[in-house]
Amino acid sequence: MKSPPKSSEAVRQAAQVDRDGAAFFRRANLLAADPRVKFIFGRAAETFENAAKVLEPVAKGRGKPKVPAVFPFEEYEEIECYVCGHVARADDLPEVCPECGAARYAFEREVSQGGAWDLVLRTTKEAAAFARKVATAVKDTEQKEALAKAAELRKGLLDEAKEERARMEGATP
Ligand SMILES: [Zn+2]
Repeated sequence: MKSPPKSSEAVRQAAQVDRDGAAFFRRANLLAADPRVKFIFGRAAETFENAAKVLEPVAKGRGKPKVPAVFPFEEYEEIECYVCGHVARADDLPEVCPECGAARYAFEREVSQGGAWDLVLRTTKEAAAFARKVATAVKDTEQKEALAKAAELRKGLLDEAKEERARMEGATP
């Protein structure tokens, strides 16, 4: 079996990281209690989704490529009822707690806005660095353009996160 050229694998890998980002932040959005935090995670999910959509049409090859674990999925795998401590799977969020009957929001997460932006900053930086690294193997013009466009989308999110962080720090006396 011939292995595919590295450049096609590169775009597929970058696209996979963006896919992971979209999936991760969609889940984080779903579990966040604070609507302002939901907004932040929603922005990140949308950006990664758009970056993946830019890359996927020019990514060649099949199957799920191996990529580094950029997003802390494990931290969002289990959720805990804050009333009774019952633990459930995040992808199977119950309408009410099966142990104590508390409403769904008992499973929602308290994340600060600063913490949310920090999570976006850290993971987006890492995703961008990975994409930059794999992009060096790409020669095809169309693929290069797609990678540049996806990089721009991630940079937009990074800039927004940096700005918001700076604004919040400025606001604290
Ligand atoms: Zn409970």
